[in-house]
Amino acid sequence: MLSSLVPTSLIPSSFRSRMALLFGCLSLLVGLPTYIYVSQVHREQLLQDRHEYLHALATSGATVIAENLVERRREIELLAQTPLYRNASLDSPEFRASLERLQHSYPYYSWIGLTDTDGQVRAATSDHLVGQSVAKRPWFKQGQAQVYVGDVHEALLLARLLPSEGTQPVRFIDFASPVRDAQGRVRAVLASHAHWRWAGDVLQVVRPAHADALGLEMFIVNQRNEVIYPTRTPSGLNMPPPERLSDRRNAAFLDWGAGQMFLSAASTIKDPVAATPLGWRVVVRQPEATVIASVRELQNVILVVASISSAALLLLVWVGAGRVSRPLQRLTRAAHRIERGEDGVTFDARFGSNELRGLASAMQGMYATLKQQKDALSESNRDLEGKVAARTAELQRLNTELNQLARTDALTGVPNRLQSNERLSAEFARFRRSHQPYAVLMLDIDFFKQINDTHGHAIGDVVLQQVAAILRRSLRDIDFVGRTGGEEFMVILPMTRQDNALLVAEKLRHAVATHAFTQAGAVGQVTVSIGVQEASLADANPEQAVNHADHHLYQAKRAGRNRVEPGLTSQWASA
Ligand code: GH3
Ligand code: MG
Ligand code: MG
Repeated sequence: MLSSLVPTSLIPSSFRSRMALLFGCLSLLVGLPTYIYVSQVHREQLLQDRHEYLHALATSGATVIAENLVERRREIELLAQTPLYRNASLDSPEFRASLERLQHSYPYYSWIGLTDTDGQVRAATSDHLVGQSVAKRPWFKQGQAQVYVGDVHEALLLARLLPSEGTQPVRFIDFASPVRDAQGRVRAVLASHAHWRWAGDVLQVVRPAHADALGLEMFIVNQRNEVIYPTRTPSGLNMPPPERLSDRRNAAFLDWGAGQMFLSAASTIKDPVAATPLGWRVVVRQPEATVIASVRELQNVILVVASISSAALLLLVWVGAGRVSRPLQRLTRAAHRIERGEDGVTFDARFGSNELRGLASAMQGMYATLKQQKDALSESNRDLEGKVAARTAELQRLNTELNQLARTDALTGVPNRLQSNERLSAEFARFRRSHQPYAVLMLDIDFFKQINDTHGHAIGDVVLQQVAAILRRSLRDIDFVGRTGGEEFMVILPMTRQDNALLVAEKLRHAVATHAFTQAGAVGQVTVSIGVQEASLADANPEQAVNHADHHLYQAKRAGRNRVEPGLTSQWASA
């Protein structure tokens, strides 16, 4: 399947690498979509959660601000209902003491004062503004009719009296309540100015500890969508419209000016006095970068976990495939050893799966059978070779025998003409080489035809055999006797000169002549004539000495037979 998708040159050749590649691709195929899906879903979820969290934070901020406003309002309201404020003369020094006590109870009060119905301040903390008219102040105007909580504003009359706060204008939020006498008529207005620093400190209560790290910012916005807290806003800040900020369902990033995107949420601060609504809201924002960073963080965690588990999977596959392929490699090596003709090869069947063990044991069995057949074959080969060797030796022996037969006279058992010629040539060659002399005797039975005629051919044969036997036993071992014709013999005497040769010839003639051929049926005396010739270095070929000997034989016949030619000079002559 893999090969149909990927060019073959890119597919590794080993089983192990192929498995690793396959599983690597599989984990990518499964892992990548999972990663994309999970991180996408999670991103949505995380954005939604964060948006909810920002809303919760804004709501907490709005609640705590609202509670504080109500508390301040009620403080003024309750104080105005005490008997001192209902009954005592506005000139009473008790008022200042009462106002000072209240200011000490709450550090954010900058000023608390009591005015008469004309708007003249009659008592105040630190006696600030006492005797001055506040008739035009909204808190005085509204505070005569009902409880009043005023929007934040810069200090006007008090600015000169209170300690400076650097370049920042001092801001207050005003609380006022009418003071009524026993009959319910308004007799004075009680007012407090809380320092606007208060808002920040109150919000600080709900502000998370890690807000700075998250880039979380909280704002208080008035009815006109102007930021009233913090007093110093980042430059270029452009507050998104309230309806976008309050949309809880859509966790979208909003543009806060200059393309700066924030995840934002808002919550309305419940008005402390329903008749004169402030319409404030708490707005919370977190920069897109830090929101996304936490998404990225999780995406990275998923990526790392996925990578590690993929790597672990690959490692497992690598090790597992190795465990499968190693026994196969061992089997292959063993098979190669058999291929090279090595002996004693074993297929290791201890490891691997059942199938591999089965294969190894089958290969072992196959090898054993092959080895058995091979051994049997070599055994039979050896047997065959032995037989061939024996046959060859027999054949050689027969050949030698045949050769011997071809060069031996069948009747007498002495060498025939062929062998006689060979011996003659050899003797001639040796003579030419070493100058060792030799002599040739040509011998013929006298009147043999008569023997045949008288006693029959068979008796003639016996005579021939007996003559050959006499010749053989009368000669030295190194001497040669061969039958060269019907009743003719050739004798070669190595290392023998003419005189000695004549003596030997005479000895032979005598031996035949004196033999009683009784066994052959009273043939009586048989004689031979002998021609003798010593070879000469002047001879052109071995035949020359033979011809001379033949010539002497002819002379012996003519001279009366039973003779040796040339001449009889020895003691044997008389015999
Ligand atoms: P000479 O004294 O002149 O030699 O007379 P010879 O009778 O011996 O010579 P000749 O050549 O007339 O006769 C030779 C005879 O030898 C003739 C032949 O039949 C006989 N002969 C040759 N070979 C054999 C053989 O193998 N066996 C027998 N029995 N006779 C043979
Ligand atoms: Mg003859
Ligand atoms: Mg003869």
